[in-house]
Amino acid sequence: MTHIQRTRTRFAPSPTGFIHLGNIRSALYPWAFARSTGGDFILRIEDTDLDRSTQAAVDVIIESMRWLGLNYDEGPFYQMQRMDRYRAVLAELQATGHVYPCYMSVAELDSLRERQMAAKEKPRYDGTWRPATGKTLPPVPEGVRPVLRFLNPQSGSVVWEDKVKGRIEISNEELDDLVIARPDGTPTYNFCVVVDDIDMAITHVIRGDDHVNNTPRQINIFHALRQPVPVYAHLPTVLNEQGEKMSKRNGAKPVTQYAAEGYLPDAMVNYLARLGWSHGDDEIFSREQFLQWFNLDHLGKSAAQFDEAKLRWVNAQHLKAMSDDALAALVAAQLQPRAIHGDARLPAICGLFKDRCDTTLALADWAARFYAGVTPDATELQQHVTEAIRPALALLADKFATCAWDKSSISTALKEVLAAQALKMPHLAMPVRVLVMGTAQTPSLDAVLALCTREIVLARLGAGKI
Ligand code: GLU
Repeated sequence: MTHIQRTRTRFAPSPTGFIHLGNIRSALYPWAFARSTGGDFILRIEDTDLDRSTQAAVDVIIESMRWLGLNYDEGPFYQMQRMDRYRAVLAELQATGHVYPCYMSVAELDSLRERQMAAKEKPRYDGTWRPATGKTLPPVPEGVRPVLRFLNPQSGSVVWEDKVKGRIEISNEELDDLVIARPDGTPTYNFCVVVDDIDMAITHVIRGDDHVNNTPRQINIFHALRQPVPVYAHLPTVLNEQGEKMSKRNGAKPVTQYAAEGYLPDAMVNYLARLGWSHGDDEIFSREQFLQWFNLDHLGKSAAQFDEAKLRWVNAQHLKAMSDDALAALVAAQLQPRAIHGDARLPAICGLFKDRCDTTLALADWAARFYAGVTPDATELQQHVTEAIRPALALLADKFATCAWDKSSISTALKEVLAAQALKMPHLAMPVRVLVMGTAQTPSLDAVLALCTREIVLARLGAGKI
């Protein structure tokens, strides 16, 4: 019987800018893989770039994951809190002869690079301080604190079966000896990642393909530490609508902004899932279906392009499928900052308007018209609330003052006015909509009015100076 190892994945963001949709997709897939295989998902904050990392960026990462329901089983772990551990592993590597001090100065490295560029060679460390049997190293310069370099194998190659890119083979000749500790002893990025992936027992590294070049170097460090190498899946980039790599610099919004704009977490998970993975032609699916279907075999190989119109469409589909009560709770939260408090009518209002809304924000805008004032559109007022229609509006207001306040009584009152004034429904319905809802485009008028209070309807009809 084969022993099946428990899956452990991680999301390892650097908190150097506000996390956007392109970044969070790199959390979605490892999360989904852990969940769909009954494994663990770990959050690790790679905060070693002290100049660029901020607590605010960490907060947005955590809040975005909470909003999307990407719950983690362990963490957040912070690399800055693990420095002692990295130093201990570094000492281990030193003891086993896998690292060596290099005293080459920055000026020497620069001139080496210039010579290599002039000779049209790839710039790389030339191994001056790399120890070898029978080799005499240069005299150690005084007062210089060395960096530590990793003794990369000089022959053979590093091979891995990438779950997205297929087999990748990199010759060790292409890899120079990586600096793994700075002169002050602080470990460098690639080394910390390997120590973390080992300590956190990560079985599958699912990350952006901007890290492909780091992978062979990291694999060699795994080998030096005699640890099993995880499975790698390098996800293609997410492009923005202009076809550039999505980034904060060219306008990508923080994930949390989509919450404020009225997107649903399940719709966002659905949309992001499709941005680099597929299950046949399925476009709309629930979180549960996604987790049932997700595996690493159907990850897309080419860059995916963000499409806001499609995101809105996906959101609209999820919104329509939600129960009125569930929508009302979200809409109530959207109304709260506007100091509007919904009431028992809110679910029915959501039910009536959800077909014409693609976000809960749009739905909240409609709901607000039932609870706060409306400002009718000036052009529509002029177009529909004419002198000719005023007697009909006055008669309607009279009937509304006394009729029972339900949909069918409201409908009867409207029809009676039409008959009395020899009008067709749109002649009367349009001005009433403009006055009561602020716009001529609304769902069925009797249903809309029934959800308004009689007092509000009479006041707004009165505001038309009938
Ligand atoms: N911290 C890296 C990033 O934000 C990810 C490193 C990794 O996943 O191995 O791009």
